[in-house]
Amino acid sequence: MDESKITKNGKKNRCSFCGRLESEVNFLITGMNGYICDSCTTQAYEITKEALDASTSVGGKKLNMKELPKPLEIKAFLDQYIIGQNDAKRFLSVSVYNHYKRLLQKDSKDDVEIEKSNIIMVGSTGTGKTLLARTIAKLLHVPFTIVDATVLTEAGYVGEDIESILTRLLQVADYNVGEAEQGIVFIDEIDKIARKGDNPSITRDVSGEGVQQGLLKLLEGSVVNVPPQGGRKHPDQKMIAVNTKNILFICGGAFDGIEKKIAQRLNTHVVGYGASQKNASINKGNMMQYIAPQDLKSFGLIPEIIGRLPVLTYLEPLDRSALRAILTEPKNSIVKQYVKLFEMDGVNLTFQTDVFEYIVDKAVEYKLGARGLRSIVETIMMDVMFEIPSQDQKEYEVTLSYAKAQLDKSNMVRLQTA
Ligand code: ADP
Repeated sequence: MDESKITKNGKKNRCSFCGRLESEVNFLITGMNGYICDSCTTQAYEITKEALDASTSVGGKKLNMKELPKPLEIKAFLDQYIIGQNDAKRFLSVSVYNHYKRLLQKDSKDDVEIEKSNIIMVGSTGTGKTLLARTIAKLLHVPFTIVDATVLTEAGYVGEDIESILTRLLQVADYNVGEAEQGIVFIDEIDKIARKGDNPSITRDVSGEGVQQGLLKLLEGSVVNVPPQGGRKHPDQKMIAVNTKNILFICGGAFDGIEKKIAQRLNTHVVGYGASQKNASINKGNMMQYIAPQDLKSFGLIPEIIGRLPVLTYLEPLDRSALRAILTEPKNSIVKQYVKLFEMDGVNLTFQTDVFEYIVDKAVEYKLGARGLRSIVETIMMDVMFEIPSQDQKEYEVTLSYAKAQLDKSNMVRLQTA
């Protein structure tokens, strides 16, 4: 029996799209002037989704060439947060700009296909690699994630599968595969997966060369099955296929001791005519600036990986003046953060200027670098931060003698090993 409701004018309700009667479908949704059935809504959803995925939009915003941040603008943005590191900033700005252009070009029918240029940044720890990557992420509207290469191992061994890198990206993109496929991944500590030695060892190098081989697949662009919740793959887990063709990879590493390899190479190359002149212009204090792909190879990265990271840039060691600037100049500098903390208690915090010099002296003395600046300031400020919220004080000035006294009474050894 036909159970369809009869309308006032005696007609039966039917889907305005496929024409099926209410009795022939699961349910009908009533609109202003018609109806739509459950299967037509599902179909409409799929058509809409496909159309949206096909157009180049990032973070829900449609990309357009005019609105792209230009390399100069990207660098100016980075300058607000990061002191120095001009070369790295320029390289990153251009690469990110090109990354966007490639995403735009994806839709065109052009023969010239722009290939992606993954980046590798080399520089001692605490010189701002992660900070650069994080700051770039603030500016971008693409999914961005930071992963640590040290936890990765070859499939089947204790540790994380290489695909877990993409799990993070999927999570950041709220499992929107289209968005994740245009994202940026920062792989930190890439130097830790360097080959352990030049000669193949009897024990398998599961966290070194094996991982590099696995990583290669991601870097060069391929469709990878990703476990949506991360962890180890297991047979009955549902996988999500992610194409890495348009994902930009930025790698960073300290490459401790690579300066020696650079020096060796420079020495062996500068024999013969004109050598002394070349040698004279080498700045021995900052060998990192002469880094070349072959140095990464001598360090233990396999040539295929190096080939997939065509943009190679370096970070300079931070000198005294850089450390001094880091303390107060960036938009969210350490000192500005403390001023803010005090402001929330209604206290105007100031420092005697020679306090800053003293903090830098200590950071240099204990070889703590930029990371140490924060622990030194924290040590100086701890007692005041404990007491001042309960006092009725509107001003507080940190004097040099107070800073010295606070550091002296603290456990310096703890700082030195921080
Ligand atoms: P890396 O990744 O190179 O080991 P980070 O980027 O994590 O170093 O730097 C550690 C901290 O030191 C940062 O959070 C930041 O506070 C500070 N820092 C390091 N380098 C700079 C820089 N060039 N400009 C401003 N702050 C810096």
